[in-house]
Amino acid sequence: MEKRLYCFNCNKDVEPLCNLQNNSYIVHKQKIQIKEKVFICPLCNSELFDENLDNSLYDIYNEYLKLYDLSFSKLKKIRESYNLSQELFAKSLGWSKRTIVRYENADSLPQKQYLQIYNKIKNNKSEFINILKTNRKSLGEKLYFKIFNIVNTELDIKTINVFLYVLENNYLTKTQIMKNLFSIDFQSFKEYSKSITSFKYAHGTYGPIFDNKDAILNLLVKQNYLEMVNDEEDKILFKPTTKPDLVLFNKQELDIMNKVLSKLRGKNAKKLTDWSHKFKGWIETKNGELIDYSYAKDFDLSKNW
Ligand SMILES: [Zn+2]
Repeated sequence: MEKRLYCFNCNKDVEPLCNLQNNSYIVHKQKIQIKEKVFICPLCNSELFDENLDNSLYDIYNEYLKLYDLSFSKLKKIRESYNLSQELFAKSLGWSKRTIVRYENADSLPQKQYLQIYNKIKNNKSEFINILKTNRKSLGEKLYFKIFNIVNTELDIKTINVFLYVLENNYLTKTQIMKNLFSIDFQSFKEYSKSITSFKYAHGTYGPIFDNKDAILNLLVKQNYLEMVNDEEDKILFKPTTKPDLVLFNKQELDIMNKVLSKLRGKNAKKLTDWSHKFKGWIETKNGELIDYSYAKDFDLSKNW
């Protein structure tokens, strides 16, 4: 559809000519050059005004960000590379959440000091951690460690594939996943003195949980290994998007996983929770405390159901 603009000179709507014009602006004392569309009346040659000025403002700002090797979309990507929500990212840097929202939506142009921080932490986790550390006092210990753990969450490919193996044709809730992973690792430790995943487990209200569970599940979803679906009762289940790579496991590990799966499959979260509450390693620890793998000798898949 042809765009029509009103010409005040000719007193009517016209079909404008469009020229690209090099314009320069001063943004934060920096000269920015952009090519702007300028509309001209074909009858009288006067410049016509387009109401849609926002677009060119966006272009000017983005051009300014390029001076720092940034763009509005890069600002968002930098935050996402740390696996943090807008709120936690803001808190880590000592900024307000509103600031982050406005930057990521291109509602305002970041000040130079902010852009320099974005650049410092781009692909540089140790710089991010340094800034986080300087805000440790104001964050408080609990929040500080929460953010610290999220940022440092990394999953090796074998651990990822344990999730894929457990969930293959067997979509589970968060609580059920915890019980499966915990059982696999403790059964493996019991038989072979080593776990299969890289996880440590702690005492949670509903039984043993792996450290940093929400960040890990978020990461698996974000990296497209898992997706979340609702079951008939509107509970959230985790579903794999791809098949496990069995080459990563030896026969003993596959046997362990199959043993656990056949015992736990079809049991609901309540039943699994009650069962895990009878495990000595859970009984003898307090909320949040690590459950040492030495408790594996007391782990028994066939008892306490
Ligand atoms: Zn005109």
